[in-house]
Amino acid sequence: MEFETQNGHLMWDGCDTVALAEKFGTPLYVFSQTMIEEKCQELQRDFVEKYENVRVAFASKAFSTLAMLKIVQQQGFSLDVVSDGELYTAIKADFPAAHIEMNGNNKSIEELAMAIDYGVGRIIVDSLQEVDLIAAIAKEKNKTVDILFRITPEVNVQTHSFISTGQKDSKFGIPIDEAILFPQIQNAIETPEVNFLGFHFHVGSQLFDNHAHLSAVTIALDLVKLVKASFDYTIKELNFGGGFGVQYTDADQPKPFSYFTDPMMEKVLEFCEAEQFPQPAVVIEPGRSIVAEAGISLHTIGAIKELPGLRKYVSIDGGMTDNIRPGLYEAEYTGILANKADDAAVEKVTVSGKACESTDILVKDIELPTVETGDIFATFSTGAYGFSMASNYNKLAIPAVVLTKAGQAEIIVKRQTLDQIIQNEEIPEFLK
Ligand SMILES: *Cc1c(COP(=O)(O)O)cnc(C)c1O
Repeated sequence: MEFETQNGHLMWDGCDTVALAEKFGTPLYVFSQTMIEEKCQELQRDFVEKYENVRVAFASKAFSTLAMLKIVQQQGFSLDVVSDGELYTAIKADFPAAHIEMNGNNKSIEELAMAIDYGVGRIIVDSLQEVDLIAAIAKEKNKTVDILFRITPEVNVQTHSFISTGQKDSKFGIPIDEAILFPQIQNAIETPEVNFLGFHFHVGSQLFDNHAHLSAVTIALDLVKLVKASFDYTIKELNFGGGFGVQYTDADQPKPFSYFTDPMMEKVLEFCEAEQFPQPAVVIEPGRSIVAEAGISLHTIGAIKELPGLRKYVSIDGGMTDNIRPGLYEAEYTGILANKADDAAVEKVTVSGKACESTDILVKDIELPTVETGDIFATFSTGAYGFSMASNYNKLAIPAVVLTKAGQAEIIVKRQTLDQIIQNEEIPEFLK
C-alpha cells in the first residue's frame, strides 16, 4: 500500500494520524474528504460527463453519515438507501428526495410509506407483492411512484460467495422467468399509481473483472427488447448496480471505473443503434469503490501475547465491533504502525480484536516493526462497510469518526458514551 509519512508518522490527507489518535482517542475512523472527492471526480470525468443521460447513485449503506451524504450531494450524485434509517439519515442531511432511490429485499409498509411521503425518486421493486403494496400506499396518498424491477440476471461472479448476489438462488431480485417476471411487468404497466421505468441489477461486490457486469447488461438488454415485443412498452431506465473492487491489500489490483462503465455503455449504445431504440437512462450504484480506500481505522495496541514457535498476538482496543468484515467473510486487510511508519518490518504478528470471539482477528500474520503496547495500528481501506456495520457487542462503544481535508480534521461522528450504550434499556416493575 502506498502512504505518506512525516517524522516517522503516518500522514492521512495532510494530518498526522498519531496526533489524531491522541486528540480524538481510539478506536478512531479517519476519512479523507480529498480521497472521496477524487473518486467522485473520476466518476464525473469518465462516466457522467462522458455519456448522455447517466447518473451515479452512492450506495449509502457503505458509509451512511450526515457528512458523507453532504459530500455526495455536493458532487451532484444521487443516493441509494435500503432502510428507514438510511432514508432518515438522508432526510436529515437535506438530501433532495427526488435524487434518492430505495432498494431493499423486504421493505416494510412503514418504510414504503415513508419513502412515498418523502417523495423519493425511485423505488426498486425486489419482491412479488411489492408493486401492489406500493400502489395501495400511493393511491391513499394520491401519488404516483417511479419504479424499476430488480432482476437476478443469473451470472456467476468471481468473489466470495457471501457477497455475490446475482445468481438465481438469491434472496435478492426477481428471476427472469417469464412466468414470474412478466405478470409483474403487466401489472406494473396497468397500475396507474406506478410508473414502470425499467430494470435494475446488482451482481455482487468487490469485483475486479467486468465479465459479470457485461453479461448482466446483455441479459438486461435482451429483456428490454422482449418487453418491447411483448408489451409494446419502452424501457426508459437501466440500473447496473455497484460492485466495483477496491484495494484492501497489495494482492488486490482494482481497475478504474471506466473499465466497467465504458464497455457497459458501449453495449447499451450499440443496442440502441441496432434496435432503433431511444437510449435509456443508465444509473450505477457504487458504494465501496467511492469510500473504502479513503478511510482508515486507528487502534491502540494493548496486550501482547507471544506463543513461542507458534504465533504472537497483539491486541487492539476494538476489533469485530468496529470492523466485522474479517470475521463475517474472511476479508483481508493490511496496516502499519502509524507511529513507526518509517521503520522496517522485523516480526510477524497477528492483530487481534478484544471481543469474545475467536474469529475476532483483524489481520493474521502481518509483518511489522517491533510492536509495543501503546503503538497505534492503522488499518488501510476500512472506509466501506466498517463503521456502517459497527455493533455494541461486548458493550463496546461505537467509535468516533473524523473527516480530514488537506490538514484539517473534524469529528463527524462522536464516540458513543457508556450511557448511550444502555440508554434504551429499562428494568420492568416485576424485577424491581
Ligand atoms: C450494496 C449495493 C450496492 C453497492 O455495492 P458496492 O459493492 O459497495 O459498490 C449497490 N446496489 C445495491 C442494490 C446494493 O445492494
